[in-house]
Amino acid sequence: MEYKNVLTVCPYCGCGCNFYLQVLDGELVGILPCKSHVVSQGKLCIKGWNASDFVISKDRLTKPLMKMKKNGKFVEISWDEALKVITEKLKQCSPDAVAVLSSAKCTNEENYLMMKFARAVLKTNNVDHCARLCHASTVVGLGKTFGSGAMTNSIGELEDADCIFVIGSNTTEQHPLIARYLMRAREKGTKLIVADPRLIPLTQFADYHLRQRPGTDVALLNGFMNVILKEGWEDKKFINERTEGFEELKEVVKKYTPKEVEKITGIPKELIMEAARIYVKAKSASIVYSMGITQHTTGVDNVVSCSNLAMLTGNVGRPSTGVNPLRGQSNVQGACDVGALPNVYSGYQSVADENIRAKFEKAWDTELPSQPGLTVVEMMNEAAKGNLKAIYIMGENPMLSDPDINHVKKALENLEFLVVQDIFLTETAQLADIVLPATSYAERDGTFTATDRRVQRIRKAIEPIGESKPDWQIICELARKMGSERFEYSSPAEIMDEIASVTPIYGGIGYERIEDIGLQWPCPSKEHPGTPYLHQEKFSRGKGKFFGIEFKEAAELPDADYPFILTTGRTIFHYHTGTMTRRTEALNRELPTGYVEINFNDAEKLNIFEGEIVSVKSRRGKIEVKVLITRRVPEGVIFIPFHFAESPANALTNSAFDPVAKIPEYKVCAVRVEKKLSLP
Ligand code: SF4
Repeated sequence: MEYKNVLTVCPYCGCGCNFYLQVLDGELVGILPCKSHVVSQGKLCIKGWNASDFVISKDRLTKPLMKMKKNGKFVEISWDEALKVITEKLKQCSPDAVAVLSSAKCTNEENYLMMKFARAVLKTNNVDHCARLCHASTVVGLGKTFGSGAMTNSIGELEDADCIFVIGSNTTEQHPLIARYLMRAREKGTKLIVADPRLIPLTQFADYHLRQRPGTDVALLNGFMNVILKEGWEDKKFINERTEGFEELKEVVKKYTPKEVEKITGIPKELIMEAARIYVKAKSASIVYSMGITQHTTGVDNVVSCSNLAMLTGNVGRPSTGVNPLRGQSNVQGACDVGALPNVYSGYQSVADENIRAKFEKAWDTELPSQPGLTVVEMMNEAAKGNLKAIYIMGENPMLSDPDINHVKKALENLEFLVVQDIFLTETAQLADIVLPATSYAERDGTFTATDRRVQRIRKAIEPIGESKPDWQIICELARKMGSERFEYSSPAEIMDEIASVTPIYGGIGYERIEDIGLQWPCPSKEHPGTPYLHQEKFSRGKGKFFGIEFKEAAELPDADYPFILTTGRTIFHYHTGTMTRRTEALNRELPTGYVEINFNDAEKLNIFEGEIVSVKSRRGKIEVKVLITRRVPEGVIFIPFHFAESPANALTNSAFDPVAKIPEYKVCAVRVEKKLSLP
């Protein structure tokens, strides 16, 4: 018998917890936490403890599949046949008519290769991934204000903050191991302010719970700044020496008095004044946020407002301060870092910049397109119009994750050719012409970048299941079949060396340096120790920039026909579209299906009972879902988790998006709730 423990990174959220995969005679038999890991410290959440189940699920794809035209059924084909068909079809597409979706579940190396494949082989910048749907506003917003669209500080530093302001992050459920640091901080006496329309587990521990009406975050943050400026509590030295644009900010926030903000947000003015005082009086204050503020048509405005508040009070560039977006997927940070975005190459280097483009043309020995490409939602719109002919999807499931999925279905069905590369036959893969079986995280080497910019190794523990192959190998084989000679790599380590050679923020990262512990970018050279917190002496853009941001309402508000606000999100037991967690016994036992949270008073008015199935309708679709009567949501607001195909929240959501980041508004749309059957 041969037994080994293989150290790797959890495939779920962006906390980047490490654990050991236990392997007995080549079979995966369990998981052991890693005590020495800097974040997880021997702990895991329930998803992490059970992250081996789905790997050995009987549903795993083991062979390439092709859909037969005559009956719409899949048949198994060889890898050679599959790649031949894909090559022929993609070669027929003009660069504008083809697009690629990369994946936050795949490694940095795979995302880098996918964006290189799109740009160097297909000659298109139409490459994007699900960061568009979660933190595109972060990349844009923090980029505008600070010059770097990532978490400013490290997870461990949260423990030593004097005040933590959590806005739009259900941290205990979505990032449980980061919540552990919030709890430890709380025990040490850190003041905790939580702004969230729902009663989330964290609100029980909060000193102040600010329960804003969904979509009013800009007004709330402006209200904080109004109080601070009125009292003269701003950090004048920091503002003078390190920022620009202060006058513009001052002019805008002066009308957001606590009284005015109470009218907009519903939060009592006294509470706004007191919370602002607590935040500004702390020696070091951290802002923590997540998709509660990014997934809005004002997502960028929300993020910029967080930056404004941090700069106004001098809470940037020091330990335990900053603006800290928590990224939802294991490698969503890395997929952005290595350029799986339509406007930038790796390291956020613009495709429109001639010098940068020339650098990549030289490195890849080919001409590259100069126009930024389509984002996820734009791809679906163009496919629906017939302008996009083919999409290649690696490890994403837009049939559950994208807004307005009836529209997404029409768009994907309208394509001439759809390829999906995944580990399961997802809702999206079912619509594909060709499905390619990829390996899970346990069957390949590579790196993931955690939410605090920490680049860490994932390691192959078992052989690929069936004929599945690692995504990086599939991309290389396909690129070579398409005629490219620049996809010859012997290992992911070699791909990382190429990433480092063209990406200044990853310049000093190589596998030999991250065997034991990850490195946090920016890490520009082999001697650089990595960067625990950003903007120490100066901001990445030089001076930090304030923007005066006016409050704007969400794109769709409740009315007589659709009187409720629907807000969507996740639960602790499931992850994203449920592809992996719904194939995990322990997680299904805890939460087998979807539900809608409805406030007690609303349920009474609608004569709705606990456990009853109701219809929820929006202007875009209708679903049936089980009722959970609760005080977690306020009156007039309902909440539905989006993991469940049988009650898909995104059949209802609005694809209206932020004009700059193009992130859809998942957090606010108008719906009505109807009783399905009248009880006797
Ligand atoms: Fe995995 Fe996140 Fe849980 Fe850590 S907190 S074990 S990274 S899901």
